Amino acid sequence: MKIVLLPGDGIGPEVVAEARKLLAVLAPFLAGTGAGGLEVEEALVGGAAIEARGTPLPEDTLELCRQADAVLLGAVGGPRWDNLPGELRPEAGLLRLRKELGLYANLRPVRLYPGLEEVSPLREEVARGVDLVIFRELTGGIYFGPRGREAIQPVMGSPARRLEEESLPSEGGLEERAWDTMVYTTGEVERIAERAFRAARARRRKVVSIDKANVLESSRLWRETVSRVARRYPEVQLEHHLVDAAAMRLVFSPRDYDVILTENLFGDILSDLAAALAGSMGLLPSASLGDSGPGLYEPVHGSAPDIAGKGLANPLATLLSVSLMLRYSFGLGHLSGLVERAVEEVLGEGFRTRDIWREGRTLVSTEEMGERVRRKVLELAERG
Ligand code: NAD
Repeated sequence: MKIVLLPGDGIGPEVVAEARKLLAVLAPFLAGTGAGGLEVEEALVGGAAIEARGTPLPEDTLELCRQADAVLLGAVGGPRWDNLPGELRPEAGLLRLRKELGLYANLRPVRLYPGLEEVSPLREEVARGVDLVIFRELTGGIYFGPRGREAIQPVMGSPARRLEEESLPSEGGLEERAWDTMVYTTGEVERIAERAFRAARARRRKVVSIDKANVLESSRLWRETVSRVARRYPEVQLEHHLVDAAAMRLVFSPRDYDVILTENLFGDILSDLAAALAGSMGLLPSASLGDSGPGLYEPVHGSAPDIAGKGLANPLATLLSVSLMLRYSFGLGHLSGLVERAVEEVLGEGFRTRDIWREGRTLVSTEEMGERVRRKVLELAERG
């Protein structure tokens, strides 16, 4: 079982260090599963790789990841590299890594742990018990469809035409037109739908597919394809929601959702909306999966340069990313659940990093939170 750690920048190394220690504690349990010994390696990515090697994703990092069973990333980026051209920026390394590994399914669970209602921006009775997972298609849709930009003759009523009519200078009498295209094939929809339905079977057996089928042809294809896949999963209930209505319902009544299945752009927006429900980025893990090769696991947050190096970062999003890795890359649902339960109990005992601290709770550092989760894992395992 080979895991590559990519700490990256800012708080990345701090939170990944806690994940590494958690993996060490889990190693004996992993050995007992028949999955083989645990091998952990670290490599450079993002700004750290730019400094050392002049590129955000060195070839040896990519090769190491390709040969791994799973990859855990901290975060990349920071003000030091903000002025570099696009393809040389830390984020370009991450985008390339996702692409090279063929990761088309992005999973973001959003769960409000008991006792954390106080950090959610929603009223306690609305927020309590939120537990959903978003399956976002990651390699298709409008981000990858044909796009372009061209100069055109102004059409009636266009701003350039109005400027002309008012005898104000416009760019050579021309205006510009730009377009992006949302494209999906049935195959692209089917493979992510399959993943969402399989996950729903192990949860509350409900998939809500989100689209804009009242307007977009690609959404109509999406809806038909998802409905066809649903027939293979008669035990799972399927609903279709329009994206605008879903955005509202996620705020008014988030408990209506269990598994959300959606395309790239809608998923991008809705997953941030759903993330806000949990109250802190420091709590949210994610997984990006393909059909073969390693999955990539990472906290949803960035490198948080404002708190880097101060012991203030919440490591739970990264530890919960390890939990996702155990479930989705290694099929070890019971160990994954053990980590989740440990997190739940430590929070239940009132231990909080600064981002989720409130009066009356116990403030702990990044390291202390990591240690409490590790100890709790061992305690729970002993209890059976
Ligand atoms: P951010 O997620 O880094 O931080 C947003 C806010 O959340 C900050 O106030 C930060 O202190 C807080 N925060 C984030 N993670 C936290 C944690 N684990 N514990 C406690 N507080 C936490 O987003 P940003 O400030 O917009 O971006 C900072 C840098 O990270 C930028 O360079 C950006 O490009 C990069 N970024 C990287 C990723 C990634 O690696 N996947 C994702 C988003 C942003």
